[in-house]
Amino acid sequence: MGGWNDIGLKRLNTQRRWRLRGLLILVGVILAIIPMLSFLSIKVDQSLNQVLVSPPYPTSPEASTLHQTLQIADLHADPLLWNRNLLNRHGYGHIDIPRLVEANVALQGFGVVTKVPQDINFEANSADTDQITQLVIAQRWPPRTWRSLLQRALYQAAKLQKIAERSQGQVQIITNIQSLDRVTQPSNQQIQTVGALLGLEGAQALEGQLSNLDKLFNAGFRQIGLTHFFDNEAAGSAHGMEQTGLTPFGRALVQRIQAKHMVIDLAHASTQTIDDVLALSTAPVLASHTGVKGTCNSPRNLSDAEVKGIADTGGVIGIGLFEPALCEPTLESAAQAMRYVADLVGVDHVALGSDFDGAVTTPVDVSGLPLLTQALMDQGFTADEIAQIMGQNAIRMLRTVLPKE
Ligand SMILES: [Zn+2]
Repeated sequence: MGGWNDIGLKRLNTQRRWRLRGLLILVGVILAIIPMLSFLSIKVDQSLNQVLVSPPYPTSPEASTLHQTLQIADLHADPLLWNRNLLNRHGYGHIDIPRLVEANVALQGFGVVTKVPQDINFEANSADTDQITQLVIAQRWPPRTWRSLLQRALYQAAKLQKIAERSQGQVQIITNIQSLDRVTQPSNQQIQTVGALLGLEGAQALEGQLSNLDKLFNAGFRQIGLTHFFDNEAAGSAHGMEQTGLTPFGRALVQRIQAKHMVIDLAHASTQTIDDVLALSTAPVLASHTGVKGTCNSPRNLSDAEVKGIADTGGVIGIGLFEPALCEPTLESAAQAMRYVADLVGVDHVALGSDFDGAVTTPVDVSGLPLLTQALMDQGFTADEIAQIMGQNAIRMLRTVLPKE
């Protein structure tokens, strides 16, 4: 019996040793993969969010002086998609809190991306593939975000909440007119604050459930882009396969968004979707980051009729700083597009929507915004008009739409 026990014990020990060895190998592989994934995600961030000209950006004294008096609102940037710690200054990507403060930005729209088809283009994308899944896993987002678009949106909202909590009052999330006033009507503040407006890029994150809009609202979302690169349950995209308009779900969604005093964003929407929303809308709507066909004839950009339709609601057109919006990716082209919109519908409807950190190359990072002020001066805009374009128009519109409290 004892002999059998000895053999049994040896076998058990051998099994334990192998199990232990297997476990150690697994831990070793995981420990090796984690820094590799972190390194890879930084490389992806760096390679997708480049600038044509690196900082510093020398600016004329006149433009610098005017720029410092502005209350700047940028309606769209996508830094939440990347693992960059936005509280620290970085030498890559387009924005972080220290650079936003340096650029005198009072209000930053934070877009939230949840799904992007493989091989994206501006003409026709199906919803069958998704490259955000790999990015989410590579960046070690929690497993609940691997398959759920809603969870990806909520995770990014929570990220922004954490940034605000850790910023010691510097970053304030804008959810109503009160919080908007806190960042736009500061009184003797010790620190320069940045208001953060949370926006969704595509109603696919609702996963077909109208009730999920309440979850997004509670997480802080106040700007809802109906579509991104493909047609979804709510609406047709300007880059979708069918490019249809609002579905019955989309019509109910538009009404619910406006009943909750959230802003409708028509960037990436098909012409039919824009027409349907304009016919149904009871509040000002905007296009957060776009170009105009009048200066750059691209499927990404708004026609004159679409610009007029949005302006007629009391809304604004956020001109982007990325190549497909401008054709020629320069700040001069952005200022020309702004001049075009001002001439077409009036300066009250011109705004900025950079698309910084949206996997795009831009002329400068956010610290180069004083050069946009210079480009607007060169376009012949007055100081008051530049103040409107760079922020006051967007802030005025938000004040008419957002909930009071
Ligand atoms: Zn976009």
